[in-house]
Amino acid sequence: MSEALAVGIDIGGTKVAGGLVDLDGVVVARARRDTPHRSKSPVVVEDTIVEVVTELLGMADREVVAVGIGAAGFVAADRATVVFAPHLSWRDEPLEANLQRRVPVPISVDNDANAAAWAEWRFGAARGESHVVMVNLGTGIGGAMVVGGAIMRGRFGIAGEFGHMQVVPGGQRCECGNRGCWEQYASGNALVREARSLMTANSPLATDLLGRVDGDPSALTGPMITQAAREGDPTATELLGEIGQWLGVGIANLAAAFDPGVFVIGGGVSAAGDLLLEPARIAFRRSLTGRGYRPEPQILAAELGNEAGLIGAADLARQDVVDRPASS
Ligand SMILES: [Zn+2]
Repeated sequence: MSEALAVGIDIGGTKVAGGLVDLDGVVVARARRDTPHRSKSPVVVEDTIVEVVTELLGMADREVVAVGIGAAGFVAADRATVVFAPHLSWRDEPLEANLQRRVPVPISVDNDANAAAWAEWRFGAARGESHVVMVNLGTGIGGAMVVGGAIMRGRFGIAGEFGHMQVVPGGQRCECGNRGCWEQYASGNALVREARSLMTANSPLATDLLGRVDGDPSALTGPMITQAAREGDPTATELLGEIGQWLGVGIANLAAAFDPGVFVIGGGVSAAGDLLLEPARIAFRRSLTGRGYRPEPQILAAELGNEAGLIGAADLARQDVVDRPASS
């Protein structure tokens, strides 16, 4: 048992990524499929998950004690039901029960941001920290908290939706229905939106970026902007700096509410490293309540990259098996 493996599955909008994860959080084998389109029935998504799990179980050279699923969506506090998944066709989906009928290993379900935060706390940037807030900058903003060695899920399981804090009254419309949400200013989508608006305005500032997409702003992606900034394009650097500033303002709000020792910044945009984090740290210090009269938390880049979700899902599931009374 001590050497046993766990399967971790990360279900995102485009990929179902899975891995066999050992006790040290090392991914020893991988499998992946495209996520079925959200128009497909829940069963099709389940079929895909079962395929990936089955493939991984077949690759294991020793016992697999648990399967953990990290899903992008609201997972109920019972960690069995996906209440709502915006990128999938799940509404009050009894995912754990449905999968458990088809997989011969105990299954646990969690939110993908919770899983990523757990992985960073166990094996990554937040090792040894007692109060951790993770902020994932992807297309939107996901978040999670690990306090005293436990994930803070909230009464209904949906804590950590930091992306929908209002930071600009009457600001940009958000897909959640409100205006001025944080993720409209500090996410990958915000980065690309701002860059495209410069490009379509025919600004000379956008010459480098336009050259990277043969003049087609719709072809621009976040990683292209990060690459341009790394290669010294001042406009791309400035765009990342703006995202970083908004990141700093938002995490100052989170510091006021939660007083963590460390913020871990993950998700695709965090690949920009200090191009993002230095402006964030400056804006954070300018916005922090009681600045100069209180200890300041660290703001660190995540260490586990895009495998944090599956590593955390596997480790959480293993934890569930260990914690479960032998009689049940
Ligand atoms: Zn929103």
